[in-house]
Amino acid sequence: MRLLFLGPPGAGKGTQSKLLAQKFSLFHVAPGDIFRQEAKARSPLGRLVEEYMVRGELVPDDVTIKVMEKQLTSDKANKGFVLDGFPRNISQAAALDEVLTENGVNLDLVINLTVPGDELIRRSKTRRVCVGCGKPYNIKSEPPKEPGKCDVCGSKLVMRKDDSEETVRNRLRVYNDATSPLREFYESRGILESVDGNDGVDVVASNIADVLTRRGML
Ligand code: AMP
Repeated sequence: MRLLFLGPPGAGKGTQSKLLAQKFSLFHVAPGDIFRQEAKARSPLGRLVEEYMVRGELVPDDVTIKVMEKQLTSDKANKGFVLDGFPRNISQAAALDEVLTENGVNLDLVINLTVPGDELIRRSKTRRVCVGCGKPYNIKSEPPKEPGKCDVCGSKLVMRKDDSEETVRNRLRVYNDATSPLREFYESRGILESVDGNDGVDVVASNIADVLTRRGML
Protein backbone atom coordinates (compact mmCIF):
# COMPACT_ATOMS: atom_id res chain seq x y z
CA MET A 1 0.00 0.00 0.00
CA ARG A 2 1.39 3.40 -1.02
CA LEU A 3 -0.47 6.48 0.00
CA LEU A 4 -0.13 10.08 0.94
CA PHE A 5 -1.95 12.62 3.04
CA LEU A 6 -2.92 16.08 1.86
CA GLY A 7 -4.40 18.75 4.08
CA PRO A 8 -3.64 22.11 5.66
CA PRO A 9 -1.39 22.43 8.73
CA GLY A 10 -3.22 21.11 11.79
CA ALA A 11 -5.65 18.94 9.81
CA GLY A 12 -4.37 15.81 11.53
CA LYS A 13 -2.07 14.41 8.81
CA GLY A 14 0.64 13.49 11.33
CA THR A 15 -1.73 11.77 13.74
CA GLN A 16 -3.67 9.83 11.11
CA SER A 17 -0.69 8.88 8.94
CA LYS A 18 1.23 7.55 11.96
CA LEU A 19 -1.79 5.49 13.08
CA LEU A 20 -2.17 4.05 9.60
CA ALA A 21 1.53 3.26 9.29
CA GLN A 22 1.47 1.46 12.65
CA LYS A 23 -1.67 -0.50 11.81
CA PHE A 24 -0.46 -1.74 8.42
CA SER A 25 3.32 -1.79 9.07
CA LEU A 26 3.97 0.90 6.47
CA PHE A 27 7.03 3.14 6.30
CA HIS A 28 5.97 6.56 7.59
CA VAL A 29 7.85 9.39 5.89
CA ALA A 30 7.36 12.99 7.03
CA PRO A 31 9.82 15.62 5.83
CA GLY A 32 8.66 17.94 8.65
CA ASP A 33 9.72 15.32 11.26
CA ILE A 34 13.05 14.78 9.50
CA PHE A 35 13.70 18.53 9.29
CA ARG A 36 12.81 19.03 12.99
CA GLN A 37 15.23 16.24 14.01
CA GLU A 38 17.99 17.77 11.90
CA ALA A 39 17.31 21.23 13.34
CA LYS A 40 17.46 19.80 16.87
CA ALA A 41 20.80 18.13 16.06
CA ARG A 42 22.11 21.45 14.61
CA SER A 43 23.35 19.60 11.50
CA PRO A 44 24.15 21.63 8.34
CA LEU A 45 20.82 20.50 6.85
CA GLY A 46 19.05 21.37 10.11
CA ARG A 47 20.51 24.86 10.19
CA LEU A 48 19.52 25.43 6.58
CA VAL A 49 15.91 24.28 6.94
CA GLU A 50 15.22 25.92 10.29
CA GLU A 51 15.05 29.44 8.89
CA TYR A 52 12.30 28.39 6.47
CA MET A 53 10.39 26.42 9.09
CA VAL A 54 10.22 29.22 11.67
CA ARG A 55 8.76 31.51 9.00
CA GLY A 56 6.25 28.89 7.91
CA GLU A 57 7.72 28.77 4.40
CA LEU A 58 8.54 25.75 2.29
CA VAL A 59 12.10 24.48 2.38
CA PRO A 60 13.50 24.81 -1.20
CA ASP A 61 12.45 21.98 -3.51
CA ASP A 62 15.98 20.78 -4.35
CA VAL A 63 16.71 20.19 -0.64
CA THR A 64 13.35 18.55 0.12
CA ILE A 65 13.34 16.35 -2.97
CA LYS A 66 16.86 15.07 -2.25
CA VAL A 67 15.87 14.12 1.30
CA MET A 68 12.70 12.39 0.10
CA GLU A 69 14.40 10.53 -2.76
CA LYS A 70 16.75 9.00 -0.22
CA GLN A 71 13.83 7.87 1.94
CA LEU A 72 11.76 6.51 -0.93
CA THR A 73 14.59 4.51 -2.44
CA SER A 74 15.59 2.98 0.92
CA ASP A 75 14.76 -0.66 1.71
CA LYS A 76 12.18 0.41 4.27
CA ALA A 77 9.99 1.82 1.48
CA ASN A 78 9.65 -1.64 -0.12
CA LYS A 79 6.98 -2.70 2.37
CA GLY A 80 4.75 0.23 1.33
CA PHE A 81 4.67 3.74 2.67
CA VAL A 82 2.57 6.63 3.86
CA LEU A 83 3.75 10.14 3.02
CA ASP A 84 2.92 12.88 5.47
CA GLY A 85 3.70 16.38 4.17
CA PHE A 86 5.16 15.50 0.78
CA PRO A 87 4.57 16.55 -1.93
CA ARG A 88 3.64 20.13 -1.07
CA ASN A 89 3.64 21.62 -4.57
CA ILE A 90 3.36 20.53 -8.18
CA SER A 91 7.11 20.22 -8.82
CA GLN A 92 7.51 17.98 -5.76
CA ALA A 93 4.60 15.87 -7.08
CA ALA A 94 6.39 15.55 -10.43
CA ALA A 95 9.58 14.50 -8.61
CA LEU A 96 7.60 11.91 -6.65
CA ASP A 97 6.16 10.55 -9.92
CA GLU A 98 9.69 10.17 -11.26
CA VAL A 99 10.95 8.24 -8.22
CA LEU A 100 7.91 5.95 -8.28
CA THR A 101 8.29 5.29 -12.00
CA GLU A 102 11.98 4.47 -11.52
CA ASN A 103 10.98 2.05 -8.75
CA GLY A 104 8.26 0.56 -10.97
CA VAL A 105 5.46 1.33 -8.49
CA ASN A 106 2.30 3.47 -8.29
CA LEU A 107 0.61 5.64 -5.71
CA ASP A 108 -2.60 3.86 -4.61
CA LEU A 109 -4.42 6.62 -2.80
CA VAL A 110 -4.30 10.27 -1.71
CA ILE A 111 -6.29 11.11 1.42
CA ASN A 112 -7.29 14.75 1.59
CA LEU A 113 -8.15 15.77 5.16
CA THR A 114 -10.53 18.73 5.34
CA VAL A 115 -10.85 21.07 8.35
CA PRO A 116 -12.23 24.68 8.40
CA GLY A 117 -9.62 27.47 8.67
CA ASP A 118 -10.77 28.88 12.03
CA GLU A 119 -10.60 25.40 13.59
CA LEU A 120 -7.02 25.00 12.27
CA ILE A 121 -5.94 28.20 14.06
CA ARG A 122 -7.69 27.01 17.25
CA ARG A 123 -6.04 23.56 17.06
CA SER A 124 -2.53 24.94 16.54
CA LYS A 125 -2.75 26.82 19.85
CA THR A 126 -3.37 23.64 21.82
CA ARG A 127 -1.14 21.34 19.76
CA ARG A 128 1.91 19.86 21.48
CA VAL A 129 4.56 17.45 20.25
CA CYS A 130 6.85 15.04 22.08
CA VAL A 131 10.53 16.13 21.94
CA GLY A 132 11.57 12.46 22.12
CA CYS A 133 9.46 10.48 19.62
CA GLY A 134 7.51 13.23 17.84
CA LYS A 135 4.06 11.92 18.83
CA PRO A 136 1.52 14.73 18.41
CA TYR A 137 -1.04 15.66 21.10
CA ASN A 138 -3.73 18.23 21.59
CA ILE A 139 -4.01 19.31 25.22
CA LYS A 140 -7.74 19.92 24.79
CA SER A 141 -8.99 17.11 22.57
CA GLU A 142 -6.23 14.45 22.76
CA PRO A 143 -4.33 15.11 26.01
CA PRO A 144 -1.57 12.85 27.35
CA LYS A 145 -2.36 10.68 30.39
CA GLU A 146 0.04 12.76 32.49
CA PRO A 147 0.16 16.51 31.72
CA GLY A 148 3.25 17.58 29.77
CA LYS A 149 4.58 14.01 29.37
CA CYS A 150 4.49 11.67 26.36
CA ASP A 151 2.42 8.48 26.86
CA VAL A 152 4.82 6.50 24.66
CA CYS A 153 8.34 7.54 25.68
CA GLY A 154 7.83 9.77 28.73
CA SER A 155 9.65 12.76 27.17
CA LYS A 156 8.53 16.36 27.50
CA LEU A 157 5.75 17.80 25.33
CA VAL A 158 6.42 21.17 23.75
CA MET A 159 4.71 23.61 21.43
CA ARG A 160 6.21 23.63 17.92
CA LYS A 161 8.08 26.85 17.12
CA ASP A 162 6.03 27.20 13.95
CA ASP A 163 2.70 26.97 15.79
CA SER A 164 2.64 30.67 16.70
CA GLU A 165 -0.49 32.29 15.26
CA GLU A 166 1.47 34.44 12.80
CA THR A 167 3.43 31.46 11.45
CA VAL A 168 0.33 29.26 11.25
CA ARG A 169 -1.40 31.96 9.19
CA ASN A 170 1.58 32.02 6.85
CA ARG A 171 1.61 28.21 6.61
CA LEU A 172 -2.09 28.34 5.69
CA ARG A 173 -1.34 30.90 2.96
CA VAL A 174 1.46 28.70 1.61
CA TYR A 175 -0.90 25.71 1.70
CA ASN A 176 -3.59 27.55 -0.26
CA ASP A 177 -1.16 28.89 -2.86
CA ALA A 178 1.27 26.01 -3.40
CA THR A 179 -0.23 22.80 -2.00
CA SER A 180 -3.97 22.97 -2.62
CA PRO A 181 -3.56 22.64 -6.46
CA LEU A 182 -2.43 19.06 -5.72
CA ARG A 183 -6.05 18.15 -4.98
CA GLU A 184 -6.96 18.62 -8.62
CA PHE A 185 -3.68 17.01 -9.73
CA TYR A 186 -4.58 13.76 -7.96
CA GLU A 187 -8.34 14.02 -8.45
CA SER A 188 -7.83 13.95 -12.22
CA ARG A 189 -6.08 10.60 -11.74
CA GLY A 190 -9.01 9.22 -9.76
CA ILE A 191 -6.96 8.50 -6.64
CA LEU A 192 -8.09 11.37 -4.36
CA GLU A 193 -10.50 10.76 -1.48
CA SER A 194 -11.54 13.58 0.84
CA VAL A 195 -12.22 12.75 4.48
CA ASP A 196 -13.70 15.16 7.05
CA GLY A 197 -10.91 15.81 9.53
CA ASN A 198 -13.05 17.96 11.81
CA ASP A 199 -13.87 15.16 14.26
CA GLY A 200 -12.22 13.05 16.97
CA VAL A 201 -9.10 11.03 16.12
CA ASP A 202 -10.92 7.67 16.32
CA VAL A 203 -13.84 8.80 14.15
CA VAL A 204 -11.51 10.17 11.45
CA ALA A 205 -9.39 6.98 11.57
CA SER A 206 -12.49 4.85 11.14
CA ASN A 207 -13.68 6.98 8.20
CA ILE A 208 -10.26 6.53 6.57
CA ALA A 209 -10.51 2.76 7.10
CA ASP A 210 -13.94 2.84 5.40
CA VAL A 211 -12.38 4.56 2.38
CA LEU A 212 -9.63 1.92 2.19
CA THR A 213 -12.25 -0.83 2.38
CA ARG A 214 -14.42 0.78 -0.30
CA ARG A 215 -11.34 1.07 -2.53
CA GLY A 216 -10.58 -2.64 -2.02
CA MET A 217 -7.29 -1.89 -0.28
CA LEU A 218 -8.05 -3.78 2.96
P1 AMP B 1 5.01 19.77 8.90
O1 AMP B 1 5.56 19.07 10.09
O2 AMP B 1 4.60 18.83 7.82
O3 AMP B 1 3.91 20.73 9.26
O4 AMP B 1 6.21 20.63 8.28
C1 AMP B 1 6.84 21.63 9.04
C2 AMP B 1 7.66 22.54 8.14
O5 AMP B 1 8.68 21.76 7.48
C3 AMP B 1 6.90 23.21 7.00
O6 AMP B 1 6.20 24.38 7.41
C4 AMP B 1 8.03 23.50 6.03
O7 AMP B 1 8.81 24.60 6.46
C5 AMP B 1 8.89 22.24 6.16
N1 AMP B 1 8.41 21.19 5.21
C6 AMP B 1 7.78 20.04 5.52
N2 AMP B 1 7.48 19.34 4.42
C7 AMP B 1 7.92 20.08 3.37
C8 AMP B 1 7.89 19.93 1.96
N3 AMP B 1 7.33 18.85 1.37
N4 AMP B 1 8.46 20.91 1.20
C9 AMP B 1 9.04 21.97 1.75
N5 AMP B 1 9.07 22.20 3.07
C10 AMP B 1 8.53 21.26 3.89
